[in-house]
Amino acid sequence: MTRILILSVGGTIGMVASARGYVPAPGLGERLRHALRGAGAAADALPAFDVLEQPPIDSADLRPTHWRAWAQALQAAWDDYDGFVLLHGTDTMAWSAAALAFMLRGQDKPVILTGAQVPLGVARSDALANVCAALTLAACADVREVAVCFGRHLWRGCRVRKVSAQRFDAFAAPNDEPLAELGIAVALHRQRLWRWSHGRRFAAPPFDDRAVAALALHPGLGAVAVRALTADARVRALLLHSYGAGNVPAQDRAFLDALADASARGVVVANVTQCWHGAVDPGAYATGSVLADAGVVPLADMTPEAAWAKLHVLLAGGADAATVRAELGRNWCGELGPQYQP
Ligand code: ASP
Repeated sequence: MTRILILSVGGTIGMVASARGYVPAPGLGERLRHALRGAGAAADALPAFDVLEQPPIDSADLRPTHWRAWAQALQAAWDDYDGFVLLHGTDTMAWSAAALAFMLRGQDKPVILTGAQVPLGVARSDALANVCAALTLAACADVREVAVCFGRHLWRGCRVRKVSAQRFDAFAAPNDEPLAELGIAVALHRQRLWRWSHGRRFAAPPFDDRAVAALALHPGLGAVAVRALTADARVRALLLHSYGAGNVPAQDRAFLDALADASARGVVVANVTQCWHGAVDPGAYATGSVLADAGVVPLADMTPEAAWAKLHVLLAGGADAATVRAELGRNWCGELGPQYQP
């Protein structure tokens, strides 16, 4: 009999109202079972499941150190279940989905993240529908990757972004196609599912919450911001969210020098575009090609969330700067579009 482990870590799905707005509350597992019993026959079609609850957080309080505990919990239970569902807040679900994807390379079972825009038990909540869909997909043995199931879609975990604070379809993968469409039927696009060329390479490394800093470019941003962020000796990578095809203010010599100095000190400086769609194209403009001289690693169409998580996983795993730079260019689990996969 198929059995799924639900790991519950927080988010709106399990929150309750307070005078200051929604707050995390324990006991989601029991409330979920109660709600499913109320749903009657429909719930009978779902796979059996156990619930493991971690102290619930608003995912705005997520830190990379949480990822280790969750990866360890999944890995410890790996052989006892057919699939896994992670109940997580939507705000930082994209970061966690990518981080878990990078820590569960070679996975042979599904790991499906979901949550809700409206708490379980509140009128018009999307919680139950999302959990039912996630449980269904976690029972699909062909899914051997981390994916986000939300609203009407299943997305690859290392490609997804939160796109709406309002819509039930809160996620999208701007540079990717959905892995499944959830209508009356679940249309799983099997040809798009990830296929591993290697066996399990699981990791649950000790994260340093401060190891990776991110800097979103805006007009007028200068060297001061770069130097301020990289002054912290624990910052070992700086992720630039650049303009368009990967461009920065190339006339600002001090800004470029600050990036080059950071690279020379062993800080890995990497570059994603802040555009929703498209990729860093280092040769497209002189304002982008200058970054090569500063040792900046272009990350093609990787999402900022995936890039940030990959830097963290690499650094937590003990990789030196040269290894981090090399691994960023290797496609681990679909975080790069097909045209950028070496
Ligand atoms: N602030 C909530 C969280 O990310 C939002 C949600 O879950 O939808 O935990």
